[in-house]
Amino acid sequence: MPELRQNFFTKEWVIIATERAKRPEELATHRAPQEVPSFVESCPFCPGNESRTPPEVLRYPVSLAEPWSVRVIPNKFAALSSEVQPTRSLQHLRRRIDGFGFHEVIIDSPDHSRCLPLLPDAHVAGILHAYRDRYRTLSVDRRVNHITIFKNHGADAGASLQHPHSQLIATPVIPSQVRHRLHEARRHYDDAGECMFCHMVEREVEDQMRIVIKGEHFVGMEVFAAATPFATHIFPLRHMASFGDISDLEIADLARVLRALLAKIYIGLENPDLNFTIRSGPTEYSGARHFHWYVSVIPRLTRVAGFELGSGMFINTVLPEAAAEFLRKVSVEHAAGAGA
Ligand SMILES: [Zn+2]
Ligand SMILES: [Zn+2]
Repeated sequence: MPELRQNFFTKEWVIIATERAKRPEELATHRAPQEVPSFVESCPFCPGNESRTPPEVLRYPVSLAEPWSVRVIPNKFAALSSEVQPTRSLQHLRRRIDGFGFHEVIIDSPDHSRCLPLLPDAHVAGILHAYRDRYRTLSVDRRVNHITIFKNHGADAGASLQHPHSQLIATPVIPSQVRHRLHEARRHYDDAGECMFCHMVEREVEDQMRIVIKGEHFVGMEVFAAATPFATHIFPLRHMASFGDISDLEIADLARVLRALLAKIYIGLENPDLNFTIRSGPTEYSGARHFHWYVSVIPRLTRVAGFELGSGMFINTVLPEAAAEFLRKVSVEHAAGAGA
């Protein structure tokens, strides 16, 4: 029997179409594994080509005497510019702001071929440190109201360069999707006197059914009302509204959980294109009691069609519980990064 499920955070309904249900393994890409070289001479992100990108704003290790392992640069084709001021204007009903913002690229590693699930945990932690450094630095800018950190992996997920990288966009406004989540979180807090994310995470950990992987500080789970197959969230177990508040110890655990989850998807679904994004409260949310940040991982296994565009309501053909069971069983011990 098909079923409608409501997303606890957004109140959006999705159709879980069990009649058309697919077994999770049917969604594997069945792509022939591609041989990707670890160095490409024409790639602007490969070592030796640093002069072909704008000057870096951050690099690890900080000492220039050593080769870089993670590099952050302004995006050469930035969507927003830090050179202009966010001046607002309103003419009749047309509201606009001059295109202020920051758009940066985090080059995950010098190796052209190693996407995140294939990197050692310690290196993934380095990437997360770079995210946090830039998040904290840009949060101080009073013109910045929201920061989105995200990864596009593969052409169908919007990646235009193959060299593994992530991006950060800081905007002078709070996107309406984020604002909607904040409203719902605030409403729940006022009604129930608790963070709705903390409540949900506690119940999910108890139920086990949708849990994929659990670390000391983070838990990865399939989403109860997932709009798309294998939509997975990673939550900090400690209440935290802003990604900027993550501790060093927590970064090490998130690196393990995130890498293992991505490796399970990489192996189990045969390297699908995917996006992940850090959904944090706005920059001034540090200490807020009603909101809780998390990582959202969305493999791009299906296409958005007319019904979704017309209604904003999604049809998901994979049961989240079946997706969780499938991912739990994928062994990642042999992924290149494991234990390294
Ligand atoms: Zn490269
Ligand atoms: Zn919470």
